[in-house]
Amino acid sequence: MTAPMNPARRSLLRRLALGVSLAPLGAAAAEAGGAAPPLVGENDPAAKMLHYVEDARRASAATGGATCESCSLYSGASGADRGSCTLFPGKLVKASGWCSAYSSL
Ligand code: SF4
Repeated sequence: MTAPMNPARRSLLRRLALGVSLAPLGAAAAEAGGAAPPLVGENDPAAKMLHYVEDARRASAATGGATCESCSLYSGASGADRGSCTLFPGKLVKASGWCSAYSSL
């Protein structure tokens, strides 16, 4: 018997799965010269769940200089102040940002 899944957790997992599948499309659109997607806001529900901040210096758990720019889920042009993240489809994150899903793998 399995315990029922928290609706907020289920929603986040769906968004994460969608993000992984759609992220390349957002990056391709940006590279093609289309309108830049909006930045993820810190008050976005998914951003809140992942403790996303636009400036990693404000996240005590962001250690060793970890930022979105060095995260394996980030895609952005070298030197750009923002890029795409597989966890936030259709939006951009700040290169200087950070969230609890940070991965250096
Ligand atoms: Fe995305 Fe990684 Fe930045 Fe988190 S730390 S918002 S997973 S790029």
